[in-house]
Amino acid sequence: PNTRPAHKRILLKLSGEALMGDDAFGINRATIVRMVEEVAEVVNMGVEVAVVIGGGNIFRGVAGGSVGMDRATADYMGMLATVMNALALADAMNKQGLTARVMSAIAIEQVVEPYVRPKALQYLEEGKVVIFAAGTGNPFFTTDTAAALRGAEIGAELVLKATKVDGVYTADPKKDASATRYATLSFDEAIAQNLGIMDATAFALCRDQKLPIKVFSIFKNGALRRVVMGEDEGTLVHA
Ligand code: UDP
Repeated sequence: PNTRPAHKRILLKLSGEALMGDDAFGINRATIVRMVEEVAEVVNMGVEVAVVIGGGNIFRGVAGGSVGMDRATADYMGMLATVMNALALADAMNKQGLTARVMSAIAIEQVVEPYVRPKALQYLEEGKVVIFAAGTGNPFFTTDTAAALRGAEIGAELVLKATKVDGVYTADPKKDASATRYATLSFDEAIAQNLGIMDATAFALCRDQKLPIKVFSIFKNGALRRVVMGEDEGTLVHA
């Protein structure tokens, strides 16, 4: 087998839900620690890792607490939620011996530094983990779109979309025992089959930029490492 990583720089998209563990909302410390261990493994292999973190565990602009609220206002609340998650994640990473830097797409300078692309590139080259907070900085977008955008900006070779299921299946594997995992899919196949891997804006951006997406489970032991090593893990969506 290969002993060197197949990818030099990756963009990892973690949803807010990934931080909840089995809790109903919020941040579960043990869950974060487990996730950070998986990330640390690939950082220690020399892979440059940038993270886009979601906020759905704290606030989702289009649902729940925001019913009846102005959409843009609710979305700004959602972006602020991602900043909280980013702080928790960076804290856990720093405690794990990694060096994490949070960069925010909206100005909140007393809390975290603003996103400045050359600075982000410098951190990555220095082996620091860069956590992109506040999504794209714009309402009506999602953190999936932020992942596609930042992934393209930093020249990531792969956008890794962490989900609960370890890839894209022909049917829901929890309901259908005969469901099988796709090892690879083209962007066109994913669209034709309406697989909903990312929202349409995020997906279109990756497709236009020929930026491949890997869908995998962050909670399957060693899965992130196997993805980075180019092994058969998860589902690769490619041009
Ligand atoms: N959001 C936004 N613009 C962005 C990214 C996020 O307005 O560029 C808001 C939006 O309200 C969204 C919330 O932040 O519902 C949390 O982000 P997301 O739903 O993508 O988080 P995840 O599902 O990954 O936890």
